[in-house]
Amino acid sequence: MRTVAIVPTFDGWQAAARALLREGIAPGEVRWSETAPGEAPTDVVHGAGAPGAARVPRQFLDLARQAAGGRDPARWQVLYEVLWRLVNENRGLLGETHHPMVRRLNALAAAGRRDAFRTETEALTLEPEGAGAAPFVPAGAGLAELGAAAARCTGCDLYRHATQTVFGRGPADARIVLVGEQPGDQEDLKGAPFVGPAGEVLDRALAEVGLGRERLYVTNAVKHFKFVERGKRRIHQTPRLGELAACRPWMEAEIAAIKPEVLVCLGATAARAIFGPDFRLLRDRGRFSPTRWTEKTIATLHPSAVLRGEDPTQQARLYGTLVADLTLVAGA
Ligand code: SF4
Repeated sequence: MRTVAIVPTFDGWQAAARALLREGIAPGEVRWSETAPGEAPTDVVHGAGAPGAARVPRQFLDLARQAAGGRDPARWQVLYEVLWRLVNENRGLLGETHHPMVRRLNALAAAGRRDAFRTETEALTLEPEGAGAAPFVPAGAGLAELGAAAARCTGCDLYRHATQTVFGRGPADARIVLVGEQPGDQEDLKGAPFVGPAGEVLDRALAEVGLGRERLYVTNAVKHFKFVERGKRRIHQTPRLGELAACRPWMEAEIAAIKPEVLVCLGATAARAIFGPDFRLLRDRGRFSPTRWTEKTIATLHPSAVLRGEDPTQQARLYGTLVADLTLVAGA
């Protein structure tokens, strides 16, 4: 019996499954497990003289991607068993809708779809603090008009103490949208997202995976800086769920205007704004899940988490996690 630890994402499973298939390892010989955050997956060695990647029906890939987004720990085993049968026994297996393995696969895919829908619905039903941004958002507007309107937003109390609204930046045809939490001290003063120390970490990580900031749209879930003053310093405060809900119409309008292929949540607050309050960053980061905006929505660490690492070793580990997740984004 071989134990294979994977990053619990469709891509993580697919990479290991391909290697196991090439080696001719049958499903009954594999025990699947999920890596903890920061833990490396099993390096599955490819067999000598292995053939190229096996071709499987598109329908299987769609169902597997949906099932991977669920939470049932048995899903990796089921996926591999169906894959094995498709490749080695019966390419038309998915047409046999009463086959126990096909029924199991369909049930897992449905559970994955339900999980995605449930968490999004929870996010949508949060009560905004104050009037919320909705009355300020011009319907069907483009990014420039939205940015100008956001500058006048008083939908919650956060505008009272911040210097200015910090709206998103980037091309209107960006394939990838990154959503952070809120502007920091430097962003508040300069009026642009991710231009402070966290922005430097983000730029370094993006460059490392071959993504140029100029091709991406970068924004925050909340558009005004929330802080407390300690002497001359302004200390960041995490926005409450009600403040997230108040500001959400701006983020929704930005995403609707851009229609990205890939949506990336930077940090737990952004992830909760997108996936819902049930989202747990350490448990759920680093894998694509469908949302109503795009099939490929993923969460990773906020770059400021790297800066908050206790020592250089921990900072390097956190940075490695950020880069690993952004590598998935770059390959999507
Ligand atoms: S944080 Fe958002 S909702 Fe609140 S005032 Fe600023 S832009 Fe408006």
